[in-house]
Amino acid sequence: MRVVLVGPPGAGKGTQAQFLASHLSIPKISTGDIFRDNVSRGTGLGQRAQAYMERGDLVPDEVTIAMVTDRLQEDDAQAGFLLDGFPRNVPQAETLKKLLAGWDNRLDVVLELVVDDDEVVRRLSGRRTCRRCGRVWHATFDPPARPETCDDCGGELFQRDDDRENTIRHRLEVYQQQTALLISYYADEGILLGIDATGPVDEVTDRALAALRRFMR
Ligand code: ADP
Ligand code: AMP
Repeated sequence: MRVVLVGPPGAGKGTQAQFLASHLSIPKISTGDIFRDNVSRGTGLGQRAQAYMERGDLVPDEVTIAMVTDRLQEDDAQAGFLLDGFPRNVPQAETLKKLLAGWDNRLDVVLELVVDDDEVVRRLSGRRTCRRCGRVWHATFDPPARPETCDDCGGELFQRDDDRENTIRHRLEVYQQQTALLISYYADEGILLGIDATGPVDEVTDRALAALRRFMR
């Protein structure tokens, strides 16, 4: 199954992607995670992406698309994938469509996680991420047993630089200006499925799985 998760920053895409990918036995491909990993390792890709990420802007399409094109050709993505954070504008969506068509494939479904702006700000300002395994926590809504330590792997938790108030606001503007257009784009393609992404994480996962099962080929 080939799935895209779409929704504003903080909607819970990464949180749901980790559970959905494991339920569906497909890899989760998060462009934000790949960029952050490259930034922390100081690679050329990381150096090209870093300033954009710190400002909350989109990394240029040519950089992002080249990275995703390589990733989608890896063995584990041949039977399906769950994309989290890509595409983020219409040119990226057009490129993805052409890329998949070239491999005789297409997206099955685009799952939109619907939450309002106030909830997004509450979620982003309390987000904590594990430096070792990448698991996402929330200081209030989904706290680990010890505040600075990941329950899953014992890694240290950190607050993302782009989860500060000013950058959060800018990322929400970028979402409204560029990414929200994808909602009508995929609705026109007939593959958009929106779910209410409020409420406890496991209830959102159940809702998402029930919705996705209707699209399975
Ligand atoms: P995104 O990948 O869409 O930016 P995340 O998955 O990183 O969003 O979630 C943002 C924050 O919201 C995280 O701290 C996460 O723990 C928290 N969160 C995710 N889903 C829920 C939920 N259903 N209820 C409350 N908090 C949530
Ligand atoms: P995320 O982890 O999805 O919130 O992404 C964090 C940051 O990585 C974004 O604010 C962008 O700077 C960058 N990024 C992630 N995915 C993309 C993409 N598809 N296109 C451009 N930039 C991206």
